[in-house]
Amino acid sequence: MSHIHDTIVALQHSSPAQKEFYQAVEEVLTSLAPVIESNNKYKEQAIIQRIVEPERQIMFRVPWVDDAGNVQVNKGYRVEFNSALGPYKGGLRFHHSVNASIIKFLGFEQIFKNALTGLPIGGGKGGSNFDPKGKSDGEIMRFCQSFMNELYRHIGPVTDVPAGDIGVGAREIGYMFGQYKRLTGRYEGVLTGKSLLWGGSLVRKEATGYGTVYFAECMLNDRNDSLKGKTCLVSGAGNVAIYAIEKLYHMGATPVTCSDSRGTIYHEHGIDLQLLKQLKEVKRASLEEYLDTYPEAEYTPLGDYPNEGHAVWRYQADAAFPCATQNELTSNDALALIDNGCVLISEGANMPTTRDAVNIIVDSEMAYGPAKAANAGGVATSQLEMAQNASMQNWTFEQVDSQLQTIMKNIFINANETSREFGQPGNLVLGANIAGFRRVADAMIEQGIV
Ligand code: GLU
Repeated sequence: MSHIHDTIVALQHSSPAQKEFYQAVEEVLTSLAPVIESNNKYKEQAIIQRIVEPERQIMFRVPWVDDAGNVQVNKGYRVEFNSALGPYKGGLRFHHSVNASIIKFLGFEQIFKNALTGLPIGGGKGGSNFDPKGKSDGEIMRFCQSFMNELYRHIGPVTDVPAGDIGVGAREIGYMFGQYKRLTGRYEGVLTGKSLLWGGSLVRKEATGYGTVYFAECMLNDRNDSLKGKTCLVSGAGNVAIYAIEKLYHMGATPVTCSDSRGTIYHEHGIDLQLLKQLKEVKRASLEEYLDTYPEAEYTPLGDYPNEGHAVWRYQADAAFPCATQNELTSNDALALIDNGCVLISEGANMPTTRDAVNIIVDSEMAYGPAKAANAGGVATSQLEMAQNASMQNWTFEQVDSQLQTIMKNIFINANETSREFGQPGNLVLGANIAGFRRVADAMIEQGIV
């Protein structure tokens, strides 16, 4: 275990003040202990030291002019973490909390997630501390164009293919694609999550949420159970949460919560999906407005919960789907879920569970689908978009959806079998980390010291 400690200490010196990144590295390295100890080749080839260091990190200035004529400046990032398995692939996050630590933790997770899909994609991530919330369309467009003025020279359909993440949806992808085309004169699959009108793939928008629910169903089926009839807690109100809620209804479950940066809605009879889409996808409004239509629903403003943790996890339910952001589910929340009889957690967001909470959950009886396995459906469907772009084809909704289901099932089988192989059956944190790591590490070894 000393190599874990040594690696974290070395990172703390070489890359100071990146706590989310250390958290992601520590979780992965802890799971890898048995495979590192039993295989000298990983030590001899310094795979751990190489894998925690991005191949390339790009940081740039993003100046733009707001509607009042003032010049604004944001920071832009693209971390090209690992290309052993294919071109760098991963989203762009636009959120005020973005910094080098957040982008690096996301990029690091992305390497193993992408490896788990079995598809030919490396790991990368990018973004900006720009916050699209409250900005006009004109401001968003000018920001995206300025962001692409630098990014275009680093990306390409066979080098690095960004997509969306928090704060980056079809609108932002559209403005960035337009600017890329203007700068390079090339119409090519350089971004995924594109509009269906011009190169996007059916199911991409739904894929992360749907995939998280498919993964949950695999976990439950393995225990001779299913989502049918289950009451579910969902956090978030973005792309991932909305389509997790949609798929939960398809599976005969009842999602009773959702949340945004200001508060949580609890609706005992089930969240009204059409109203949620209207509020978030069309009006970009606060969830509090849900009460205008359903005064009987309960709204808890963020921070009003008396104990440390989040109101969304304190309702009685059978299953929980964290689909908002990192570290949104704490140890107190985990204990509350267990007390309330929750039997499953499937993570739609990236690293939504704190380190302490992960330990509590892994030691419990709950089925637990960690993010890099459970939310890999989004990036997997991005790769299906790349494949359609490269072959100039458009697949039907059913074709893409059935591939997504197969991919999620295979990820579950792979992580589950790996957990058995290493003597911890059902520990999908261990199984997913080792299965993803082995594919990347073995590819790195075969490609030499580069
Ligand atoms: N941002 C998503 C993720 O966390 C999707 C990335 C992609 O489609 O490239 O996996």
